[in-house]
Amino acid sequence: MNDPTRSRTHGFVPPYLLERLAADADPGLSGPARRTLDGDDTLRRARERPDLWGQWADPSGEVASGEVESGAAESGAVESPESGGQGEPGPQRVVSDARGGRELPGTPVRREAEDPTGDPAADEAYDGLGDTWQLFFDAFGRDSLDGRGMPLLATVHFDRDYDNAFWDGVQMVFGDGDGRIFNRFTLSLDVIGHELAHGVIEHTAGLMYRDQPGALNESVSDVFGSLVRQRALGQSAREADWLIGADLFTDAVQGVALRSMKAPGTAYDDPVLGKDPQPGHLDDYVRTAEDNGGVHINSGIPNRAFYETAVALGGNAWEAPGQIWYDTLTGDIRADCDFATFAQLTVTAATDRYGADSAEVAAVRHGWEAVGVLTGQGSDVAGAEEPAPGPATDPVPEGGAEPAPAGAELLLRRSGGFAGLVREREVRLDELPEPDTRDWRHLLGGQRLRALQAPGGEASRGGHPDAFTYRVCCDAVDLDVTVTESHLPHDVRGLFERTLEQPG
Ligand SMILES: [Zn+2]
Repeated sequence: MNDPTRSRTHGFVPPYLLERLAADADPGLSGPARRTLDGDDTLRRARERPDLWGQWADPSGEVASGEVESGAAESGAVESPESGGQGEPGPQRVVSDARGGRELPGTPVRREAEDPTGDPAADEAYDGLGDTWQLFFDAFGRDSLDGRGMPLLATVHFDRDYDNAFWDGVQMVFGDGDGRIFNRFTLSLDVIGHELAHGVIEHTAGLMYRDQPGALNESVSDVFGSLVRQRALGQSAREADWLIGADLFTDAVQGVALRSMKAPGTAYDDPVLGKDPQPGHLDDYVRTAEDNGGVHINSGIPNRAFYETAVALGGNAWEAPGQIWYDTLTGDIRADCDFATFAQLTVTAATDRYGADSAEVAAVRHGWEAVGVLTGQGSDVAGAEEPAPGPATDPVPEGGAEPAPAGAELLLRRSGGFAGLVREREVRLDELPEPDTRDWRHLLGGQRLRALQAPGGEASRGGHPDAFTYRVCCDAVDLDVTVTESHLPHDVRGLFERTLEQPG
């Protein structure tokens, strides 16, 4: 499996130091280190595939040295796009097909300016990449995710029955869905815009993917994802439905979409999926250790703030409201930004661009007041408490270990993912098919899972946006770990998925 978290290129700072920094509790240290590591990896992977990345990854070019940057562009500045110095800028798209496997990127099936393939997933991905590039370029003057014409890569038909779409720091990945609950993930244009927006965030604010900054990361991705769709459909803020993933559910699901920016918590209410858990007000902020601190849940609060802002202002949401959020994202913002700080920054961005007495500033204030983040008393912000810290990390036991007893109870819980839905199974190990019982006993008794979550281990760096996270609890061996999909060895992930799929 092509694991993007391993084997990095050598930069000025040794990778082991960056890895340590990336694991540091201080987001001011870990954020830039993480982005650097990811950036290194982007270039490494780009240079391995010159057929996909073209001049963007040319080691002698300017792009390679300046690619990882804070993106602190001056508010209002329009970047000068250069697509390899070849005339008019435009998207550089390559859509590849994993053909049901997990190798990335797979086989290229449609490159820029090529004819449709006839495969709906590949063609939807191609069109969606183009619509997203067009929004960022036309509305904000940004040439691709990095502002420097970075090629837009996507892989479709990833894995089998895969219920997710994610951005892995280098490219987009789409599953086909299981066909029972989820359709293919390319069907909703806002999902494509959402995943690419994660790439823009990574190249600009670098918002941490945990707790409030993580929920902002998710929300800003929903905002730009929705703007891509609204612009493609030519809908004003008041005409738009403000749904995210409106085409993803099959007809069997009782719900209209995965999320509603207009009315968080109302997108679905289904016997299998349960009820949409999103809050639409700070008073209902959900404290949880799952889903990186509920990043797909609490994003409902800033999502609704944007909706309220856009509707108060009227017109097209990708104009003034989108511009204010874009200015905020590319301005002076820290990776650990919380809701209250982000709200203040949007007010500042609106003031800088439109003036303190403008309708835009009033609309932004109204948006954040509607969700309880700004109080309406001058510039005061609501008392947004820090979310409770996650569970303490278990120390790694020394020496060899006994296999867990066959009668041990296991709780396995998968959360996160684009959809933010939970799948869970509670089972005694000896109730599983024999090879899985044996594998679980060794896995639970040994060091592998603990090491994945240990300080400095891969999992402590956090996962890619929208990757699944798995929590494994087993009292018999005193184990409670949470690990991210992208850090799991292939065999372990296979065991997890088999266990979740078997009838409980
Ligand atoms: Zn996301």
